Amino acid sequence: MQTFPLFMSLQGRRVLVVGGTEAAARKVELLLSAGAQVTLIADTVVGEIAQLIDEARISWAGRAFYNEDLAGVSLVVVASDDESLQARVSLAAQSRCLPVNVVDRPKLSSFIMPAIVDRAPITIAISTGGAAPALARRLRAEIERAMPAAIGRLARFAEVFRAQVRRTLEQPRARRRFWDRVFEGRIGEMALAGDEIGARRELIRLLDGARTEAPTVGMVHLVGAGPGDPDLLTMKAHRLLQRADVVVYDRLVSTEVLAMTRRDAERIYVGKRRGNHSLPQDEINARLVALACAGKSVVRLKGGDPFVFGRGGEEIEALAHAGIAVEVVPGVTAALGCAASAGIPLTHRDHAQTCVFVTGHRKEGTLDLDWPMLARPRQTVVIYMGVEALPTIASQLVAHGLPASTPVALIENGTTDRERRVVGTLATIERQAMRIRLEGPTLCLVGEVVGLALAQSGGPQSAESKDSEFQFESRVGL
Ligand code: SAH
Repeated sequence: MQTFPLFMSLQGRRVLVVGGTEAAARKVELLLSAGAQVTLIADTVVGEIAQLIDEARISWAGRAFYNEDLAGVSLVVVASDDESLQARVSLAAQSRCLPVNVVDRPKLSSFIMPAIVDRAPITIAISTGGAAPALARRLRAEIERAMPAAIGRLARFAEVFRAQVRRTLEQPRARRRFWDRVFEGRIGEMALAGDEIGARRELIRLLDGARTEAPTVGMVHLVGAGPGDPDLLTMKAHRLLQRADVVVYDRLVSTEVLAMTRRDAERIYVGKRRGNHSLPQDEINARLVALACAGKSVVRLKGGDPFVFGRGGEEIEALAHAGIAVEVVPGVTAALGCAASAGIPLTHRDHAQTCVFVTGHRKEGTLDLDWPMLARPRQTVVIYMGVEALPTIASQLVAHGLPASTPVALIENGTTDRERRVVGTLATIERQAMRIRLEGPTLCLVGEVVGLALAQSGGPQSAESKDSEFQFESRVGL
C-alpha cells in the first residue's frame, strides 16, 4: 500500500485553502460538504469562490500567505499555480506536522485526495497512489454505476438498529449472519426501495427469530480456488470467502486469491510442498472436523478444482464420517487455466479428439501409468505434478510410439503474473526444463495442439526453438 486510507472528520474544523483557482473552488466545495470551516488565502479568486465568499460560506483573506495562517487549522490544501508558494506552504505545514495536499503535486503533499463516490453516509474513496488519477476516475465511474443510488438509505436504515442488534445477538458471528440476511434478502430490498416501515417490521421479526435460534452448526465448503488469477474464482467461491470464519488453504492457493478472504477471518496454512508433506492428510481432515464441530463456517480452499488431483474425495469422506455437512464448489482446474492462458486448445477437431488428465506424481518412487493409452495419437495429455518425472514421461511416451517431435509445453504458475512457459518437443523438453529451474506449480501439456498455439501466434518455433531447442516465454509472449 503506497498510502494509508483513512476517513477524517472535518465537522467544525478549520481548513486552510491557499489559492483562488478553479481547482481551489472544487476542493472548497468538497471540504464544505464534509462540514469544514474553510479559510481561503488568495489575492484574487475565480467567480465560483467569489460567490461562496458573498454567501459567507467561507472566510477569505485577500492577501499573501503567512506561516501564522497555519495556527489552529487541521488540514491544508494548496491550489495555487505559484510553484514557490506551493513549496513554501507545503514546507511550513509539514514542519508543523499538519497534513497538506498540493493539487497535482504528490511530492509536496503528505496526503492525497482520492476520487470519491458519495452515497452518504457511505463514502468510497479510490486512490492509485498517484500513479494514474485517470484510472481512479474510471474506477469511480464503474463503482457509481454498480452502486444503487439509494445504498446510503440502506446504511441509514441499518444504523437505526445497530445498537439493538448488538445487544440482542452477543456473538459477532451471529450478528454478521443476521446482517448478511438483512442486506441480501427482502429486508434490504424493501429498505432500498424506500419501504422503511415494512423493512422495520421484517427486521424485528428476523431479530426475534435469530435470538432464539439454536447455536449454529458448522459446515465445510470445499472450494476450488482456481489456478491463481483471482478473476477466475467463481462468484460462489468469492461469496463464501467473504463470509467464512476460517479459511484452510495450502501452497497452491495464490496470495491474490487468498486476499479475497474476509479480512478478519482466521487463515490456517496446511501447505504441502512437492515431496515434502508438511501436514499429513489425516491431520488436515481432523482439523476440518474440529473446526466445523466448533460451529465455524469453514472454507477449505484448494488450488484449481478440489476434485482434480486435489484429494477432495478423502476430505469429504472424513467429514461425512464425522457427520459434518459439506458443499463442494468447483474451480477452474490448472489444465483449463493454463491452456487458456497459453492459447492452447485442449481439443481440436483435426488434432485432438481426446484429452487426458494424468498425474506424474510417483508413488514409492515409481510412476505407474498406462503408457500405451497415453501415447495414442490425436490426443492431448495434460500432466499434473509432472516436472520431477519429466524424463521418464518423455522417454516412455516416445518408447510407446509418440513421435519425438511431438510438441510439449511446460507452464509454471499459470494465469498469474509470475507465469513462465517453456515450449519444446518430447526430445528436447527435459534439457530445456533443467535450464530454467521450475520452482512453482508446473503443468505439462503434450500433443499437436501445443504446436497449434505456436503456429497461430506467428510461430516463434520457426524463429528460435528449432535449433536452439530452447524457448522461454513470458505470459504475454506466446
Ligand atoms: N486441484 C488442482 C491440482 C492439484 S495437483 C487443480 O485442479 O488444478 C498440483 C499440480 O497442479 C501442480 O503440481 C501443477 O502440476 C498443477 N498446477 C496447479 N496450479 C497450477 C498453475 N497455476 N500453473 C501450473 N500448474 C498448476
